[in-house]
Amino acid sequence: MDYYSRQINRLVEELSRLPGIGTKSAQRLAFHILNMPKDNVQGLALAITEARENVRYCKECCTLTDDELCPICKNSGRDHRTVMVVENSRDLAAYEKTGKYEGVYHVLHGAISPMLGIGPGDIRLKELLVRLQKDVEEVIIATNSSLEGETTAMYISKLIKPAGVKVTRIASGVPVGGDLEYIDEVTLLRALEGRREL
Ligand code: ZN
Repeated sequence: MDYYSRQINRLVEELSRLPGIGTKSAQRLAFHILNMPKDNVQGLALAITEARENVRYCKECCTLTDDELCPICKNSGRDHRTVMVVENSRDLAAYEKTGKYEGVYHVLHGAISPMLGIGPGDIRLKELLVRLQKDVEEVIIATNSSLEGETTAMYISKLIKPAGVKVTRIASGVPVGGDLEYIDEVTLLRALEGRREL
């Protein structure tokens, strides 16, 4: 891209590293940013650096948050004895959007995948086991219905059942290979309500 000056090229290059952004979109975004008021650009840059600087894992449920505990774990109105295990923070957000789930979550940040070399030690399972030493009545496994999600569900159920905790799996209203965050709220609720004990 020799026809752009160095700094424009750099901006396009950085933007094109983002997922789903090809060179064309990166160019469009770059020129949009260059036409924005300077204040807005500064706000955008600050939001990115501050979020990256301060966002960390919640001490309790491992979701991404900018405080020691996330707002859900902090909320004493939630049912802390029901823990829903999800693969990532986006899945958590999908269930939160339904507005009907009153328990808390545990975010694994991935799923077990022997093919990709991701083992139980690579996701946040240890943290889940630590939580189970507290007063937990039910663990709802809401990993995706992909091969990895099912493998992870099976593994978790075998791991924690001996601890005497009720383990359930969301119903298969969720299509196979379906990514939870793209599924509508009604389907999510149906899957939750139809959960069965493992
Ligand atoms: Zn939390």
